[in-house]
Amino acid sequence: MPARLAVLLVAVARTAALAAEPPADLLLTGGRVWTAEAGGPWAEAVAVRGDRIAFVGGAKEAEALRGPRTEVVDLAGRLVLPGFNDAHIHLVDGALSLERVDLIEAGSVAAVQAAIRGFAAANPERPWVLGRGWLYGSFPGGLPTKEQLDAVVPDRPAYMECYDGHSGWANSKALALAGITRDTKDPEHGEIVRDPETGEPTGALKEDARALVESKVPAPEGDARYALLLRALALLNSQGITSVQDARTSSTTFEDDLALLERAKREGRLTVRVRLSTRMSQGDVEGPVAAAARLRERSDALLGFGSVKAFVDGVIEAKTAAVLEPYPGGGLGTPNWTPEALAAAATAADAAGLQVWLHAIGDRGVRIALDAHEAALRANRRTDRRGRIEHIETVAAADVPRFSSLGVVASMQPLHANPDQNNADVWSANAGPDRASRGFAWGLLERAGARLVFGSDWPVVTSDVLRGLYCAVARKTREGLPEGGWRPEHAVSVESALRHYTIDGARASFEEDVKGSLRAGKLADLVVLSEDLFAGPPEAILRARVVLTVMGGRVVHRAQR
Ligand SMILES: [Zn+2]
Repeated sequence: MPARLAVLLVAVARTAALAAEPPADLLLTGGRVWTAEAGGPWAEAVAVRGDRIAFVGGAKEAEALRGPRTEVVDLAGRLVLPGFNDAHIHLVDGALSLERVDLIEAGSVAAVQAAIRGFAAANPERPWVLGRGWLYGSFPGGLPTKEQLDAVVPDRPAYMECYDGHSGWANSKALALAGITRDTKDPEHGEIVRDPETGEPTGALKEDARALVESKVPAPEGDARYALLLRALALLNSQGITSVQDARTSSTTFEDDLALLERAKREGRLTVRVRLSTRMSQGDVEGPVAAAARLRERSDALLGFGSVKAFVDGVIEAKTAAVLEPYPGGGLGTPNWTPEALAAAATAADAAGLQVWLHAIGDRGVRIALDAHEAALRANRRTDRRGRIEHIETVAAADVPRFSSLGVVASMQPLHANPDQNNADVWSANAGPDRASRGFAWGLLERAGARLVFGSDWPVVTSDVLRGLYCAVARKTREGLPEGGWRPEHAVSVESALRHYTIDGARASFEEDVKGSLRAGKLADLVVLSEDLFAGPPEAILRARVVLTVMGGRVVHRAQR
């Protein structure tokens, strides 16, 4: 039998089989469908029944599933992708940030002050003026001062978190409320920045010193907090996101976040699948490990557990990331753990069957994290543990192949490498040329066989996946700078970046069999974009809009025309 006839007969048989099935609830047809399936990623139509994908394939065959009550979406050539999975997000922090002044786009002291002044004037009833997102590079010397904040909020306490969440900025009222004076001692892993001449606190607070003020900041509770969570979920859906993996911080408690998410789940309003980890720190390992192990039994596709996170070091911009060679001007950063304690904690968590996430940014932090994963692997001999390292802003050349040999997932956030002046200049100056040459080295890691996953770290930067995707592919700002891209050898292809935002993300939470690609039987999580990202130059990504987002077969976002 000629091959073409055989193909035709198979198609006829398949159509007949489909016709015998119940009709689809939702049929998307007439587009370009990128499934993320290895081997044959392209199709024309997707049919959904209940919360599952019923069919992926040709538009003609899909017609067999059209019934009188099927909602049909004519794609008109648009692109369908698996729903995006943000593999590193701070969901409740992000939700809380929605009612704070956003300073991320303000690039100078004057612009930052104008934004805060406007926000304070618009919210006269609030006892505190709160904001987040300032960049080190906006301030002469790299850090803001209380005087700059007093100038726009003299009458109320004001507190602004740095975009990376590792530094804070308080005005005089906030410092007074927190009882911070020249006599206050620095916490162990933090610094109250002081005037070198007078010893007076300047208003800038690094790492754990932030807690002195943050513990005084009133946070919305109850229904107000819940409403912010729902706003956050809607925002994520509007960006095509259907799954997130939450990286713990210290600003909210695990129990509070869990209660909030369980309420949303109970009320059928959890429109993003969430994986939640617990956080361990040196001296506090057993409790978080036991909690994560206990909760794992309650996991389902909507709300899952089973991982524990530790912060190994800080950030390059504040020179708190642990580095192998001194920073220009001196200092090696300070790891939050001794290597021995981290290895023991990772081994204990791994022995409990948990996935271990290690936040590590400097090359020494990354090495300590790899060593801890290696220690766990040697001790427990669990082969498919999928240990993770978060961020990896720079990595020693010798450590690059270890991601592959140890099976460690490299969890990275493309927009952290957004090469605008505020970001890149401070980062590059602090990193120095050698470390900067392996800065945000997605391509280098990928070529060495590392498994990458992409996320945003929202609210550190925007959760907008399309912006992250553009940076991953072009290594340029939205304005197209620098020409040719910043260290373009570390860029990745569109297809590769999309995999890191979809199927690789699902694998990072052990869920690649149920989601992350478009295949019959998998959860119906998908997104429709206005542009074909695969056609033409990467600038199409900047023009693209999310037209439709489906989570579990349910339309959770539809663009207004
Ligand atoms: Zn983070």
